[in-house]
Amino acid sequence: MAKNLTTRKEDYSKWYNELVVKADLAENSAVRGCMVIKPYGYAIWEKMQAQLDKMFKETGHQNAYFPLFVPKSLFEAEEKNAEGFAKECAIVTHYRLKTDPDNKGKLIVDPDAKLEEELVVRPTSEAIIWNTYKGWIQSYRDLPILVNQWANVVRWEMRTRLFLRTAEFLWQEGHTAHATKAEALAETEQMNNIYAEFAESFMAMPVIKGRKTESERFAGAEETYCIEAMMQDGKALQAGTSHFLGQNFAKAFDVKFASKEGSLEYVWATSWGVSTRLMGALIMTHSDDNGLVLPPNLAPIQVVIVPIYKGEEQLNQISEVANQLAADLRAQGISVKYDDRDTQKPGWKFAQYELQGVPVRIAIGPKDLEKGSVELARRDTLSKEFIAQTEVVEKVKGLMTEIQENLHQKALSFRNDHITRVENFEQFKEVLNEKGGFISAHWDGTSETEEKIKELTKATIRLIPFDEHKEEGACVYTGKPSVGRVLFAKAY
Ligand code: AMP
Repeated sequence: MAKNLTTRKEDYSKWYNELVVKADLAENSAVRGCMVIKPYGYAIWEKMQAQLDKMFKETGHQNAYFPLFVPKSLFEAEEKNAEGFAKECAIVTHYRLKTDPDNKGKLIVDPDAKLEEELVVRPTSEAIIWNTYKGWIQSYRDLPILVNQWANVVRWEMRTRLFLRTAEFLWQEGHTAHATKAEALAETEQMNNIYAEFAESFMAMPVIKGRKTESERFAGAEETYCIEAMMQDGKALQAGTSHFLGQNFAKAFDVKFASKEGSLEYVWATSWGVSTRLMGALIMTHSDDNGLVLPPNLAPIQVVIVPIYKGEEQLNQISEVANQLAADLRAQGISVKYDDRDTQKPGWKFAQYELQGVPVRIAIGPKDLEKGSVELARRDTLSKEFIAQTEVVEKVKGLMTEIQENLHQKALSFRNDHITRVENFEQFKEVLNEKGGFISAHWDGTSETEEKIKELTKATIRLIPFDEHKEEGACVYTGKPSVGRVLFAKAY
């Protein structure tokens, strides 16, 4: 197995791409900007999905499914949303191919099969969903609607990276409808909090919660809340967004309800989403120069057992111990793989599971049979120890929590070390170039200044943190008054 990865220090971007491919997570496909998610990568995504789905359902949401295609007339109904996404839409114009009369064996678009109305491949589903909600909502009794869909969407991205930014990606999109503004705002905040909790507790990835500035807001939203994470190269990553859509879509699709008092009012809306980008976030947060490092809560295989043997008789003896250990661990809800394949050497297997980020590896050899021991290795610290076979279950149970917490702690210290307060623009540029990370600075609140800083430094305002102490100051660029610090960074 070709293990040697480019190191993060040598070339962070190359390290990431190599890791994704070599750890068998995903690969580029024959379609520009679209990836193939391989079984091991998909298994991690499924674990993410299962946990998020549980959290959505616990807060009263239900899943549904809407069409992939959005008729152009619906797509353009909410103007800001349409304008924001227009630049990256794939459009279906025809519904049939035919054999090329001049070139047998080749197909051409049949000009007689032109659609009367073009169909936009959904880049997001507000339009089709709000057009549907129109038929679902008449009175206050029909509200709230708390719906989520798991789907694929297409955004014709020009510069793509596996998981982080692809032209087609998998995601969930929640779309809720409410009778009051306060309720919709509370929903927007609740879902952002759920994303944050998922990131921290399952991905072991620290995030900062806050609002986007007007220019970074979702097209058609009145507010965009987000969670923002810090990657090991000092670049920020938007990990999830939750939008307060006001009454914009209700107005665009004429969705009104009769209130308790009998008046007709427009419905309030939210939408929120996380995507397969979270896979990229997970990889970049924890992995090292040996490969992927997975937090136990999202690892498809939490423990791998590798036998070290000569001959069938020894393998049988080791397998007896290994199978019993595997059964005992599984009884505790731990996922275990016993890799007794004779097609690969133990050293190859060790390297492979290290590259694939399996949190705990247990090796059992002939000496262990004599001593009643096993060798246990941790992926996060790369440490090894011998322990008694009788202690394995308790030890591994403890390690699942310990590794999860250790990864979170490590990422948290890194993140906190990469938030720098600056007081002037010289400092701003210096920190950005030399250290990277989040820069906490005063901003005068205008899009012009935000744009100018972006132009000069490539750093954008990632978010206006919710829990930043309100502290007045002077804008780092213009010196004009500022009502509080915001976080700038270069971002993925
Ligand atoms: P949005 O609808 O733009 O608020 O995006 C919803 C979620 O999808 C956010 O968490 C984004 O970070 C993520 N996302 C947006 N564009 C892409 C893309 N091209 N590839 C993967 N994830 C994306």
